[in-house]
Amino acid sequence: MPEPLSTESTAFRSALDVIRAVEPRVADAIGQEIADQRDMLKLIASENYASPATLLAMGNWFSDKYAEGTVGRRFYAGCRNVDTVEALAAEHARELFGAEHAYAQPHSGIDANLVAFWAVLAARVEAPALAKAGVRNVNDLSDADWAELRQAFGNQRMLGMSLDAGGHLTHGFRPNISGKMFDQRSYGTDPATGLIDYEALRTSAREFKPLIIVAGYSAYPRLVNFRIMREIADEVGATLMVDMAHFAGLVAGKVLTGDFDPVPHAQIVTTTTHKSLRGPRGGMVLCDESLAEQVDRGCPMVLGGPLPHVMAAKAVALAEARRPEFRDYAQAVVDNARALAEGLMRRGATLVTGGTDNHLNLIDVASSYGLTGRQAESALLDSGIVTNRNAIPADPNGAWYTSGIRIGTPALTTRGLGATEMDEIAGLIDRVLTAAEPGTTAKGAPSKAQHVLDPKISDEISHRATDLLAPFPLYPEIDLG
Ligand code: PLP
Repeated sequence: MPEPLSTESTAFRSALDVIRAVEPRVADAIGQEIADQRDMLKLIASENYASPATLLAMGNWFSDKYAEGTVGRRFYAGCRNVDTVEALAAEHARELFGAEHAYAQPHSGIDANLVAFWAVLAARVEAPALAKAGVRNVNDLSDADWAELRQAFGNQRMLGMSLDAGGHLTHGFRPNISGKMFDQRSYGTDPATGLIDYEALRTSAREFKPLIIVAGYSAYPRLVNFRIMREIADEVGATLMVDMAHFAGLVAGKVLTGDFDPVPHAQIVTTTTHKSLRGPRGGMVLCDESLAEQVDRGCPMVLGGPLPHVMAAKAVALAEARRPEFRDYAQAVVDNARALAEGLMRRGATLVTGGTDNHLNLIDVASSYGLTGRQAESALLDSGIVTNRNAIPADPNGAWYTSGIRIGTPALTTRGLGATEMDEIAGLIDRVLTAAEPGTTAKGAPSKAQHVLDPKISDEISHRATDLLAPFPLYPEIDLG
Protein backbone atom coordinates (compact mmCIF):
# COMPACT_ATOMS: atom_id res chain seq x y z
CA MET A 1 0.00 0.00 0.00
CA PRO A 2 1.39 3.48 -0.86
CA GLU A 3 2.16 5.74 2.10
CA PRO A 4 -0.65 8.24 2.70
CA LEU A 5 0.29 11.76 1.62
CA SER A 6 1.11 14.27 4.33
CA THR A 7 -1.30 17.18 4.85
CA GLU A 8 1.39 19.52 3.51
CA SER A 9 1.92 17.43 0.35
CA THR A 10 -1.81 17.42 -0.33
CA ALA A 11 -2.02 21.18 0.24
CA PHE A 12 0.86 22.12 -2.06
CA ARG A 13 -0.05 19.53 -4.74
CA SER A 14 -3.61 20.85 -4.86
CA ALA A 15 -2.41 24.46 -4.99
CA LEU A 16 -0.09 23.66 -7.91
CA ASP A 17 -2.89 21.83 -9.75
CA VAL A 18 -5.09 24.92 -9.45
CA ILE A 19 -2.31 27.19 -10.72
CA ARG A 20 -1.36 24.77 -13.52
CA ALA A 21 -4.88 24.91 -14.90
CA VAL A 22 -4.41 28.65 -15.58
CA GLU A 23 -0.70 29.12 -16.33
CA PRO A 24 1.28 25.88 -16.28
CA ARG A 25 4.60 27.68 -16.65
CA VAL A 26 4.11 29.36 -13.27
CA ALA A 27 3.27 26.02 -11.62
CA ASP A 28 6.38 24.52 -13.23
CA ALA A 29 8.60 27.39 -12.02
CA ILE A 30 7.27 26.99 -8.46
CA GLY A 31 7.95 23.24 -8.58
CA GLN A 32 11.42 23.86 -10.03
CA GLU A 33 12.19 26.39 -7.28
CA ILE A 34 11.73 23.85 -4.50
CA ALA A 35 13.79 21.33 -6.50
CA ASP A 36 16.63 23.86 -6.92
CA GLN A 37 16.52 24.88 -3.27
CA ARG A 38 16.66 21.24 -2.21
CA ASP A 39 19.93 20.81 -4.14
CA MET A 40 21.65 23.99 -2.97
CA LEU A 41 24.18 24.30 -0.22
CA LYS A 42 22.72 27.65 0.77
CA LEU A 43 25.12 29.76 2.79
CA ILE A 44 23.59 33.16 1.99
CA ALA A 45 23.48 34.78 5.43
CA SER A 46 20.23 36.65 4.75
CA GLU A 47 18.19 33.66 3.53
CA ASN A 48 16.28 30.89 5.26
CA TYR A 49 13.41 28.43 4.72
CA ALA A 50 10.00 29.45 6.09
CA SER A 51 7.67 26.74 7.40
CA PRO A 52 4.86 25.29 5.24
CA ALA A 53 2.34 26.96 7.60
CA THR A 54 3.99 30.34 7.06
CA LEU A 55 4.09 29.82 3.28
CA LEU A 56 0.45 28.73 3.11
CA ALA A 57 -0.74 31.67 5.22
CA MET A 58 0.39 33.94 2.36
CA GLY A 59 -1.50 32.34 -0.52
CA ASN A 60 -5.10 33.36 0.07
CA TRP A 61 -7.86 35.94 -0.22
CA PHE A 62 -6.37 38.30 2.35
CA SER A 63 -4.37 39.46 -0.66
CA ASP A 64 -7.56 41.01 -2.09
CA LYS A 65 -8.23 43.28 0.86
CA TYR A 66 -7.37 46.95 1.22
CA ALA A 67 -6.73 47.82 4.86
CA GLU A 68 -5.10 51.25 5.05
CA GLY A 69 -5.01 52.45 8.63
CA THR A 70 -4.35 50.49 11.80
CA VAL A 71 -6.16 47.80 13.78
CA GLY A 72 -9.69 49.01 14.61
CA ARG A 73 -9.11 52.31 12.75
CA ARG A 74 -9.23 51.62 9.02
CA PHE A 75 -9.96 53.83 6.04
CA TYR A 76 -11.79 50.87 4.42
CA ALA A 77 -14.82 48.88 5.51
CA GLY A 78 -14.82 45.13 6.14
CA CYS A 79 -11.41 44.77 7.79
CA ARG A 80 -12.31 42.70 10.84
CA ASN A 81 -10.32 39.65 9.74
CA VAL A 82 -7.33 41.76 8.74
CA ASP A 83 -7.58 43.34 12.20
CA THR A 84 -7.39 39.86 13.71
CA VAL A 85 -4.17 38.89 11.93
CA GLU A 86 -2.45 42.27 12.22
CA ALA A 87 -3.24 42.39 15.96
CA LEU A 88 -1.94 38.84 16.35
CA ALA A 89 1.31 39.61 14.51
CA ALA A 90 1.84 42.68 16.69
CA GLU A 91 0.97 40.82 19.89
CA HIS A 92 3.38 37.97 19.11
CA ALA A 93 6.11 40.48 18.23
CA ARG A 94 5.61 42.46 21.45
CA GLU A 95 5.64 39.32 23.58
CA LEU A 96 8.55 37.70 21.78
CA PHE A 97 10.82 40.74 21.85
CA GLY A 98 9.51 42.45 25.00
CA ALA A 99 8.66 45.58 23.00
CA GLU A 100 6.16 48.24 24.04
CA HIS A 101 4.79 48.62 20.52
CA ALA A 102 5.00 46.62 17.27
CA TYR A 103 4.01 47.64 13.73
CA ALA A 104 3.67 44.67 11.38
CA GLN A 105 2.87 46.48 8.11
CA PRO A 106 6.26 47.21 6.48
CA HIS A 107 6.65 45.24 3.26
CA SER A 108 10.40 44.78 3.68
CA GLY A 109 13.42 45.82 5.74
CA ILE A 110 14.05 48.92 3.64
CA ASP A 111 10.44 49.97 4.12
CA ALA A 112 10.69 49.39 7.88
CA ASN A 113 13.74 51.68 7.99
CA LEU A 114 11.89 54.39 6.09
CA VAL A 115 8.98 54.15 8.53
CA ALA A 116 11.45 54.49 11.41
CA PHE A 117 13.27 57.50 9.92
CA TRP A 118 10.03 59.35 9.34
CA ALA A 119 8.67 58.45 12.77
CA VAL A 120 11.75 60.05 14.35
CA LEU A 121 11.54 63.06 12.02
CA ALA A 122 7.84 63.45 12.84
CA ALA A 123 8.46 63.25 16.59
CA ARG A 124 11.59 65.37 16.76
CA VAL A 125 11.32 67.85 13.89
CA GLU A 126 7.67 68.10 12.82
CA ALA A 127 5.97 67.98 16.25
CA PRO A 128 8.02 70.86 17.71
CA ALA A 129 7.39 72.94 14.54
CA LEU A 130 3.63 72.35 14.80
CA ALA A 131 3.70 73.25 18.51
CA LYS A 132 5.67 76.44 17.78
CA ALA A 133 3.13 77.47 15.13
CA GLY A 134 0.27 76.56 17.47
CA VAL A 135 -1.36 74.11 15.00
CA ARG A 136 -2.09 70.36 15.13
CA ASN A 137 -1.69 69.42 11.48
CA VAL A 138 0.80 70.20 8.70
CA ASN A 139 -2.12 71.34 6.52
CA ASP A 140 -2.69 74.20 8.97
CA LEU A 141 0.84 75.62 8.67
CA SER A 142 1.35 78.83 6.71
CA ASP A 143 3.29 78.50 3.45
CA ALA A 144 6.29 80.14 5.11
CA ASP A 145 6.22 77.79 8.12
CA TRP A 146 5.80 74.80 5.82
CA ALA A 147 8.78 75.87 3.73
CA GLU A 148 10.83 76.21 6.93
CA LEU A 149 9.77 72.76 8.12
CA ARG A 150 10.68 71.19 4.77
CA GLN A 151 14.12 72.77 5.02
CA ALA A 152 14.44 71.40 8.56
CA PHE A 153 13.60 67.86 7.38
CA GLY A 154 16.45 68.10 4.88
CA ASN A 155 18.97 69.37 7.42
CA GLN A 156 19.08 66.45 9.84
CA ARG A 157 22.06 64.25 10.57
CA MET A 158 22.53 60.51 10.84
CA LEU A 159 25.46 58.48 12.11
CA GLY A 160 25.53 54.93 10.69
CA MET A 161 27.96 52.04 10.35
CA SER A 162 30.17 52.29 7.27
CA LEU A 163 29.41 49.93 4.42
CA ASP A 164 32.81 48.30 4.39
CA ALA A 165 32.56 47.64 8.13
CA GLY A 166 29.30 45.77 7.48
CA GLY A 167 26.63 48.52 7.56
CA HIS A 168 23.65 48.65 5.20
CA LEU A 169 22.96 51.00 2.32
CA THR A 170 19.81 52.26 4.04
CA HIS A 171 21.83 53.62 6.98
CA GLY A 172 22.43 56.96 5.28
CA PHE A 173 24.34 56.13 2.09
CA ARG A 174 23.94 58.30 -0.98
CA PRO A 175 22.62 55.71 -3.45
CA ASN A 176 19.71 55.09 -1.03
CA ILE A 177 16.96 57.56 -0.15
CA SER A 178 18.37 57.71 3.42
CA GLY A 179 21.57 59.29 2.09
CA LYS A 180 19.57 61.83 0.09
CA MET A 181 17.45 62.68 3.15
CA PHE A 182 20.18 62.89 5.80
CA ASP A 183 23.58 64.47 6.16
CA GLN A 184 25.42 61.26 7.04
CA ARG A 185 28.65 60.38 8.75
CA SER A 186 29.83 56.79 9.23
CA TYR A 187 31.50 54.99 12.07
CA GLY A 188 33.72 52.01 11.39
CA THR A 189 35.77 49.34 13.04
CA ASP A 190 39.22 49.35 14.62
CA PRO A 191 41.68 48.31 11.87
CA ALA A 192 43.68 46.23 14.36
CA THR A 193 40.81 44.16 15.77
CA GLY A 194 38.03 44.57 13.22
CA LEU A 195 35.67 45.39 16.12
CA ILE A 196 33.47 48.47 16.47
CA ASP A 197 35.51 51.24 18.04
CA TYR A 198 33.01 52.69 20.54
CA GLU A 199 35.33 55.47 21.69
CA ALA A 200 35.90 56.69 18.13
CA LEU A 201 32.13 56.48 17.65
CA ARG A 202 31.58 58.54 20.81
CA THR A 203 34.04 61.22 19.64
CA SER A 204 32.41 61.35 16.22
CA ALA A 205 28.92 61.58 17.75
CA ARG A 206 30.02 64.44 20.04
CA GLU A 207 31.37 66.40 17.07
CA PHE A 208 28.62 65.60 14.59
CA LYS A 209 25.58 65.69 16.92
CA PRO A 210 23.32 63.45 14.83
CA LEU A 211 19.55 63.29 15.22
CA ILE A 212 19.71 59.50 14.75
CA ILE A 213 22.43 56.95 15.47
CA VAL A 214 21.80 53.73 13.54
CA ALA A 215 23.24 50.47 14.81
CA GLY A 216 22.89 47.13 13.05
CA TYR A 217 24.60 45.51 10.11
CA SER A 218 24.51 43.15 7.16
CA ALA A 219 28.04 41.80 7.39
CA TYR A 220 29.57 42.27 10.86
CA PRO A 221 30.41 38.91 12.44
CA ARG A 222 30.51 40.08 16.06
CA LEU A 223 28.15 41.32 18.76
CA VAL A 224 27.15 44.97 19.13
CA ASN A 225 26.88 46.42 22.62
CA PHE A 226 23.60 48.32 22.46
CA ARG A 227 23.90 49.57 26.04
CA ILE A 228 27.02 51.52 25.07
CA MET A 229 25.36 52.71 21.86
CA ARG A 230 22.40 54.07 23.84
CA GLU A 231 24.72 55.74 26.31
CA ILE A 232 26.45 57.55 23.43
CA ALA A 233 23.11 58.46 21.82
CA ASP A 234 21.81 59.90 25.10
CA GLU A 235 24.99 61.87 25.62
CA VAL A 236 24.56 63.71 22.30
CA GLY A 237 20.75 63.87 22.26
CA ALA A 238 20.36 61.36 19.41
CA THR A 239 17.65 58.73 18.99
CA LEU A 240 19.11 55.21 18.89
CA MET A 241 17.67 53.14 16.07
CA VAL A 242 18.74 49.52 15.65
CA ASP A 243 18.25 47.66 12.39
CA MET A 244 18.26 44.01 13.54
CA ALA A 245 17.22 42.66 10.12
CA HIS A 246 20.03 40.11 10.13
CA PHE A 247 20.04 38.96 13.73
CA ALA A 248 16.36 39.21 14.77
CA GLY A 249 16.21 35.40 14.99
CA LEU A 250 19.07 35.41 17.50
CA VAL A 251 17.24 38.02 19.58
CA ALA A 252 13.98 36.05 19.35
CA GLY A 253 15.82 32.86 20.30
CA LYS A 254 17.42 34.56 23.35
CA VAL A 255 20.97 34.03 22.14
CA LEU A 256 21.47 37.81 22.15
CA THR A 257 20.47 39.06 25.59
CA GLY A 258 21.45 41.82 28.03
CA ASP A 259 23.67 44.43 26.38
CA PHE A 260 23.38 42.59 23.06
CA ASP A 261 19.58 42.64 22.85
CA PRO A 262 18.65 45.90 21.11
CA VAL A 263 15.04 46.09 22.25
CA PRO A 264 15.54 47.31 25.84
CA HIS A 265 18.19 49.82 24.72
CA ALA A 266 16.98 51.42 21.47
CA GLN A 267 13.99 53.75 21.17
CA ILE A 268 13.19 52.16 17.80
CA VAL A 269 14.13 48.81 16.26
CA THR A 270 13.52 47.67 12.71
CA THR A 271 13.78 44.21 11.23
CA THR A 272 13.08 41.97 8.31
CA THR A 273 11.01 38.90 9.04
CA HIS A 274 12.55 36.55 6.47
CA LYS A 275 16.21 36.20 7.46
CA SER A 276 17.25 34.53 10.75
CA LEU A 277 13.67 35.03 12.04
CA ARG A 278 12.52 32.47 9.40
CA GLY A 279 9.22 34.15 8.50
CA PRO A 280 7.71 35.49 5.26
CA ARG A 281 9.46 38.21 3.23
CA GLY A 282 8.62 41.40 5.08
CA GLY A 283 9.54 43.98 7.69
CA MET A 284 8.49 45.17 11.11
CA VAL A 285 9.10 48.07 13.49
CA LEU A 286 9.26 47.81 17.29
CA CYS A 287 9.39 50.96 19.40
CA ASP A 288 8.85 52.69 22.68
CA GLU A 289 5.30 53.90 23.35
CA SER A 290 6.59 57.47 22.81
CA LEU A 291 7.06 56.78 19.06
CA ALA A 292 4.08 54.44 18.57
CA GLU A 293 1.71 57.01 17.09
CA GLN A 294 4.27 58.17 14.50
CA VAL A 295 5.29 54.61 13.59
CA ASP A 296 1.64 53.66 13.02
CA ARG A 297 1.45 56.37 10.35
CA GLY A 298 3.91 54.38 8.19
CA CYS A 299 1.09 53.75 5.70
CA PRO A 300 0.33 55.95 3.79
CA MET A 301 3.32 58.08 4.86
CA VAL A 302 5.93 55.93 3.10
CA LEU A 303 4.24 52.53 2.65
CA GLY A 304 1.64 51.37 0.18
CA GLY A 305 -1.46 49.57 1.45
CA PRO A 306 -0.74 46.78 3.95
CA LEU A 307 -0.33 43.19 2.73
CA PRO A 308 -2.75 41.33 5.02
CA HIS A 309 -1.73 37.93 3.64
CA VAL A 310 1.88 38.61 4.61
CA MET A 311 0.84 39.91 8.03
CA ALA A 312 -1.04 36.62 8.51
CA ALA A 313 2.17 34.76 7.69
CA LYS A 314 4.15 37.02 10.05
CA ALA A 315 1.71 36.07 12.84
CA VAL A 316 2.27 32.36 12.09
CA ALA A 317 6.07 32.67 11.94
CA LEU A 318 6.20 34.75 15.13
CA ALA A 319 4.04 32.15 16.90
CA GLU A 320 6.63 29.56 15.80
CA ALA A 321 9.47 31.74 17.06
CA ARG A 322 7.80 31.85 20.49
CA ARG A 323 8.10 28.06 20.83
CA PRO A 324 10.96 26.64 22.94
CA GLU A 325 12.38 24.82 19.87
CA PHE A 326 13.18 28.18 18.30
CA ARG A 327 15.70 28.88 21.07
CA ASP A 328 17.47 25.62 20.23
CA TYR A 329 17.45 26.63 16.58
CA ALA A 330 18.95 30.07 17.28
CA GLN A 331 21.70 28.58 19.44
CA ALA A 332 22.46 26.00 16.74
CA VAL A 333 22.76 28.79 14.13
CA VAL A 334 25.52 30.41 16.19
CA ASP A 335 27.21 27.09 17.07
CA ASN A 336 27.25 26.21 13.38
CA ALA A 337 28.73 29.58 12.40
CA ARG A 338 31.49 29.03 14.97
CA ALA A 339 32.17 25.49 13.69
CA LEU A 340 32.39 26.85 10.15
CA ALA A 341 34.79 29.58 11.31
CA GLU A 342 37.00 27.12 13.14
CA GLY A 343 37.03 24.72 10.17
CA LEU A 344 38.03 27.51 7.80
CA MET A 345 40.70 29.00 10.05
CA ARG A 346 42.18 25.57 10.79
CA ARG A 347 42.65 25.18 7.05
CA GLY A 348 44.41 28.56 6.84
CA ALA A 349 41.64 30.97 5.79
CA THR A 350 41.65 34.52 7.18
CA LEU A 351 38.34 35.67 8.63
CA VAL A 352 37.50 39.31 9.25
CA THR A 353 37.70 39.80 13.06
CA GLY A 354 39.22 36.30 13.37
CA GLY A 355 35.93 34.46 13.82
CA THR A 356 32.28 35.02 14.67
CA ASP A 357 29.83 35.50 17.54
CA ASN A 358 26.69 35.47 15.43
CA HIS A 359 25.25 33.76 12.35
CA LEU A 360 27.79 34.88 9.77
CA ASN A 361 31.43 34.80 8.77
CA LEU A 362 33.34 37.01 6.41
CA ILE A 363 36.25 35.33 4.62
CA ASP A 364 38.99 37.60 3.34
CA VAL A 365 39.46 35.72 0.09
CA ALA A 366 41.98 38.23 -1.29
CA SER A 367 44.56 37.63 1.40
CA SER A 368 43.67 33.96 1.95
CA TYR A 369 43.39 32.77 -1.65
CA GLY A 370 44.47 35.64 -3.95
CA LEU A 371 40.94 35.99 -5.37
CA THR A 372 38.42 38.81 -5.53
CA GLY A 373 35.06 38.24 -3.86
CA ARG A 374 33.50 38.05 -7.31
CA GLN A 375 35.86 35.29 -8.47
CA ALA A 376 35.40 33.35 -5.23
CA GLU A 377 31.61 33.68 -5.38
CA SER A 378 31.44 32.25 -8.91
CA ALA A 379 33.98 29.47 -8.24
CA LEU A 380 31.87 28.38 -5.24
CA LEU A 381 28.66 28.60 -7.26
CA ASP A 382 30.18 26.36 -9.97
CA SER A 383 30.76 23.87 -7.15
CA GLY A 384 27.18 23.92 -5.80
CA ILE A 385 27.89 26.29 -2.89
CA VAL A 386 25.78 29.45 -2.87
CA THR A 387 27.33 32.44 -1.08
CA ASN A 388 27.64 36.14 -1.80
CA ARG A 389 30.58 38.46 -2.16
CA ASN A 390 30.90 41.30 0.31
CA ALA A 391 33.25 44.20 0.94
CA ILE A 392 35.66 43.92 3.86
CA PRO A 393 37.00 46.88 5.89
CA ALA A 394 39.22 49.13 3.69
CA ASP A 395 38.52 46.80 0.78
CA PRO A 396 41.20 47.14 -1.93
CA ASN A 397 38.83 45.74 -4.55
CA GLY A 398 35.93 48.14 -3.90
CA ALA A 399 32.24 47.45 -3.40
CA TRP A 400 31.63 45.68 -6.74
CA TYR A 401 34.42 43.09 -6.97
CA THR A 402 35.14 43.08 -3.21
CA SER A 403 37.67 40.99 -1.29
CA GLY A 404 35.22 39.08 0.89
CA ILE A 405 32.77 36.20 0.87
CA ARG A 406 29.95 36.31 3.41
CA ILE A 407 28.66 32.97 4.63
CA GLY A 408 25.79 32.43 7.04
CA THR A 409 24.22 29.45 8.74
CA PRO A 410 20.47 30.22 9.29
CA ALA A 411 19.28 28.23 6.24
CA LEU A 412 21.42 25.10 6.62
CA THR A 413 20.64 25.02 10.35
CA THR A 414 16.92 24.96 9.49
CA ARG A 415 17.66 21.84 7.42
CA GLY A 416 19.26 20.25 10.47
CA LEU A 417 22.96 20.32 9.55
CA GLY A 418 25.28 20.50 12.56
CA ALA A 419 28.91 21.08 13.54
CA THR A 420 30.28 17.95 11.79
CA GLU A 421 28.72 18.98 8.48
CA MET A 422 29.96 22.57 8.99
CA ASP A 423 33.51 21.33 9.31
CA GLU A 424 33.17 19.36 6.11
CA ILE A 425 31.65 22.37 4.34
CA ALA A 426 34.62 24.46 5.51
CA GLY A 427 36.82 21.83 3.82
CA LEU A 428 34.82 22.02 0.57
CA ILE A 429 35.00 25.83 0.52
CA ASP A 430 38.73 25.74 1.19
CA ARG A 431 39.34 23.19 -1.60
CA VAL A 432 37.42 25.24 -4.16
CA LEU A 433 39.07 28.52 -3.24
CA THR A 434 42.54 26.96 -3.12
CA ALA A 435 42.04 25.41 -6.56
CA ALA A 436 40.46 28.49 -8.19
CA GLU A 437 42.70 31.06 -9.83
CA PRO A 438 42.12 34.58 -11.13
CA GLY A 439 41.17 34.53 -14.81
CA THR A 440 41.75 36.90 -17.71
CA THR A 441 39.54 38.95 -20.01
CA ALA A 442 38.87 37.86 -23.60
CA LYS A 443 41.92 39.95 -24.60
CA GLY A 444 44.14 38.20 -22.04
CA ALA A 445 44.31 41.06 -19.50
CA PRO A 446 44.02 40.26 -15.76
CA SER A 447 40.36 40.22 -14.72
CA LYS A 448 38.77 40.80 -11.33
CA ALA A 449 35.61 39.05 -12.51
CA GLN A 450 36.80 35.86 -14.23
CA HIS A 451 38.12 32.78 -12.49
CA VAL A 452 39.61 29.51 -13.63
CA LEU A 453 38.63 26.28 -11.91
CA ASP A 454 39.25 22.74 -13.07
CA PRO A 455 35.77 21.33 -13.88
CA LYS A 456 36.81 18.00 -12.36
CA ILE A 457 37.14 19.76 -9.00
CA SER A 458 33.88 21.72 -9.27
CA ASP A 459 32.03 18.51 -10.27
CA GLU A 460 33.52 16.54 -7.42
CA ILE A 461 32.65 19.23 -4.86
CA SER A 462 29.12 19.64 -6.29
CA HIS A 463 28.50 15.91 -5.91
CA ARG A 464 29.84 15.90 -2.39
CA ALA A 465 27.63 18.91 -1.51
CA THR A 466 24.57 17.02 -2.79
CA ASP A 467 25.53 13.90 -0.81
CA LEU A 468 26.10 15.98 2.30
CA LEU A 469 22.58 17.41 2.03
CA ALA A 470 20.89 14.06 1.36
CA PRO A 471 20.35 13.11 5.05
CA PHE A 472 18.83 16.56 5.66
CA PRO A 473 15.94 16.82 3.18
CA LEU A 474 14.41 20.25 2.73
CA TYR A 475 10.69 20.18 3.53
CA PRO A 476 10.66 16.40 4.08
CA GLU A 477 6.92 16.63 4.69
CA ILE A 478 6.32 17.91 1.15
CA ASP A 479 6.25 15.43 -1.73
CA LEU A 480 5.13 17.05 -4.98
CA GLY A 481 5.09 13.72 -6.81
N1 PLP B 1 18.60 46.14 6.74
C1 PLP B 1 19.62 45.27 6.76
C2 PLP B 1 20.62 45.33 7.87
C3 PLP B 1 19.75 44.32 5.75
O1 PLP B 1 20.77 43.47 5.75
C4 PLP B 1 18.77 44.30 4.71
C5 PLP B 1 18.83 43.33 3.58
O2 PLP B 1 19.72 42.72 3.25
C6 PLP B 1 17.75 45.24 4.73
C7 PLP B 1 17.69 46.14 5.76
C8 PLP B 1 16.74 45.32 3.63
O3 PLP B 1 15.80 44.33 3.70
P1 PLP B 1 14.76 44.11 2.50
O4 PLP B 1 15.53 43.47 1.41
O5 PLP B 1 13.71 43.25 3.10
O6 PLP B 1 14.22 45.45 2.14
